[in-house]
Amino acid sequence: MINTDVVIVGAGPCGLFQVFELGLLGLKAEVVDSINYPGGQCAELYPDKPIYDIPAVPMCTGQELTDLLLKQIEPFEPGMHLGQEVQVLQRQEDGSFFVETSKGTQFNAKAVVIAAGVGSFQPRPLRVPDAESYEDKSLHYRVRDPGQFAGKRLVILGGGDSALDWVLELAGAAEHITLVHRRDEYRAVPDSVAKMKQLVAAGKVDEITSAKAKAISGSDGQVTSVVIAPKEGDEVEVEADHVLVFFGLAPKLGPIAEWGLDINRKTINVDTEKFETSEPGIYDVGDINHYPGKKKLILCGFHEAALAAFAIKQQIEPERKVHVQYTTTSPIMHERLGIDE
Ligand code: FAD
Repeated sequence: MINTDVVIVGAGPCGLFQVFELGLLGLKAEVVDSINYPGGQCAELYPDKPIYDIPAVPMCTGQELTDLLLKQIEPFEPGMHLGQEVQVLQRQEDGSFFVETSKGTQFNAKAVVIAAGVGSFQPRPLRVPDAESYEDKSLHYRVRDPGQFAGKRLVILGGGDSALDWVLELAGAAEHITLVHRRDEYRAVPDSVAKMKQLVAAGKVDEITSAKAKAISGSDGQVTSVVIAPKEGDEVEVEADHVLVFFGLAPKLGPIAEWGLDINRKTINVDTEKFETSEPGIYDVGDINHYPGKKKLILCGFHEAALAAFAIKQQIEPERKVHVQYTTTSPIMHERLGIDE
C-alpha cells in the first residue's frame, strides 16, 4: 500500500501539471495512467503535431509539451504507475481514499484528482466470435513477452506503426508471419513499410491487404487458425499459434462511471472554485470535467489544476490559511523546487 497526499488518475498534460501545482504547495502525488507512457492525448494522438496556444511557448509538438512538463515536475519526484488503469476508488471510514489499479497497485490518499481526459485509452478489439476466450493466451493486444513468439506462426492484424514495428521485430524469431491489413495503404512510417516489403520479398512474411479476419478456430484458449476474408475473392484459412491485433487505441470512460460521481454524459460536473466533484475530496481537472463555459483546452486545464491544488491543500490542512506565494521570490517555493539560493 502506497500512502500519499494525492492520487492523480491520468498522466495527460493536466495530470502532469497537477503534480507541479501540488508540489509547489508541498503535497506529494502518485500518478496512474492506463497507457505505458505519459502525455495523454498529446503523446497518444498527436506527438509530432504542433500546438500553438500554450502561453509563452509559441510552438511545441505534443511530445515536446509532454517532455517539458515531465522536466518541470522532476523536483517533486511523483510516483509514476503506467500501463495500469485505476479501477477502484473507495472512501474509507477516516475520509481518506483507497485506490486500486488493474495491476493491483494500492494507494491510500487524502485526496484524488481525476485528470482522465476523454477516458482511459484501450486497444480497439478484434470483433470476431469468441475472441475473448483467446485473449492473453493466444490473442494479444499488447506484446508483454516477445520471447513467447519464438518459433511460432503469427497472424498480425493492422496497418499502423505498432503492427509494422512488431512484424519487423518478430520476423527473425517467429517461424512465419502473416500480416493482414484492411486497406492497401499503410499508416505506418514509409521506412517500416519498405522494410516489411523486403521481408515479404524474402518469403519471411506473407502480406494480405484489403482483407480482414473473420473468424478464429481453436480450443481452450489456443488459436489454431484464422479465416481471412478479402474484400474481393475467396476466403483463406491461415494456420497460426498466435494472433496479434494492433487496431489502435480508443478512449473509454471505463470504471470512472461507477464511482458515484455526478456525471454529465461523458464528463464530470465540478464547481469552478475548487474543481471538486459531487464527492468531497475528489477533484477533477482537464478535458473530463464540466462546468458552465468549459473549454477543452490545455491552458484551461492548467488553470483548473492550480485552483484544485489550493483547494486540496486547504482540505488537508484546514487549520492553516493557504497563501499565494510567487515562485520568483518565495524561499519555501525555491526549497520545494530544489533551487540553491
Ligand atoms: P488527456 O490528454 O486525455 O489524458 C488523460 C489520460 O488519462 C490518458 O492518458 C488516459 O489513458 C488516462 N486515463 C483515463 N482514465 C483512466 C483510468 N481509469 N486509469 C488510468 N488512466 C486513465 N488542446 C490545446 O489546448 N491546444 C491544441 O492545439 C490542441 N490540439 C489538439 C490536437 C488534437 C489532434 C487533439 C486530439 C487534441 C488537441 N488538443 C489541443 C486537446 C488537448 O490535447 C486536450 O485538451 C488535453 O490532452 C487534455 O488533457 P487531459 O490531461 O485533461 O487529458
